[in-house]
Amino acid sequence: AAAPVYRGRFAPSPTGPLHFGSLLAAMASYADARACAGTWLVRMEDIDRPREVPGSAALILETLSALGFEWDAPVVFQQARTHAYSAALALLAENGQTYPCGCSRAEIARQGRTGLEGTVYPGTCRNGLPAGRQPRSVRIKTHSDPLSFADRIQGLQTQSVQESVGDFVLRRADGIHAYQLAVVVDDAWQAITHVVRGADLLLSTPRQIMLQQALGCPQPNYAHIPLMLDDQGRKLSKSLASAPVDAADPLPALRKAWDCLGQRSLGKVVSPAMFWKQAVEAWRIDRVPRRQHFEQAGVSAQR
Ligand code: GLU
Repeated sequence: AAAPVYRGRFAPSPTGPLHFGSLLAAMASYADARACAGTWLVRMEDIDRPREVPGSAALILETLSALGFEWDAPVVFQQARTHAYSAALALLAENGQTYPCGCSRAEIARQGRTGLEGTVYPGTCRNGLPAGRQPRSVRIKTHSDPLSFADRIQGLQTQSVQESVGDFVLRRADGIHAYQLAVVVDDAWQAITHVVRGADLLLSTPRQIMLQQALGCPQPNYAHIPLMLDDQGRKLSKSLASAPVDAADPLPALRKAWDCLGQRSLGKVVSPAMFWKQAVEAWRIDRVPRRQHFEQAGVSAQR
């Protein structure tokens, strides 16, 4: 039998320069892929045009290059993949797994109870648009069975998508395909076997697994690296993690990210290439902390 293949990816959104929080995800996915002799891809998640910051896709790629990352195939841009998201949506619609929804955000906020991530959609349009309503978005009919997956860092995760999130949006009122749909279609199309990304997406993973099952796509392995929190427990993306990585001086950022990932100190390193040679040999995903706290003085990891 053929050896199992490892295919990993980093999927930044071009909403600004590469910041420290994204560098952690890039580093963990890259080191893990290379340590497993795997393939590593970059996918630019630029479907959300209104949120895109012009020039940032190119800037992110330049910064990754300066930091010594090497991707194994041309970068995939989601803007060129709309046909594939439409096809997936059509398939789900044919199978009766979607419905048009005419509710506005404000209406949902008034009617729905609070779930894991905002308001749980109360199901208003599930059995047909109420009279006089225009369709706005397209939602998936979720089921209430709990979905479980064994995260390689965070351990066993279980969620009933219907109870925690409700029927979620696949195509938004502005016509843009939702991240949840695009990520599932592209992970399958790129034959990704291992997803390593930030824990801000941990709660999204059951939605993605539900879509994989609905579309008949294989389920990748998941590893969610801890979010950087400041000493008040706030997401660091609002402060330190949002600091852009300095492409002109890559080694300090690489070393700091390596430390944040709980890895053992490397020997003397004078170039990104040298850093990666050592890092790929030394990488141990079981050293990555589940939670992370950044204190003024430095980093303390908790497992
Ligand atoms: N584009 C997403 C982000 O930048 C990440 C998607 C993913 O890794 O699944 O937050």
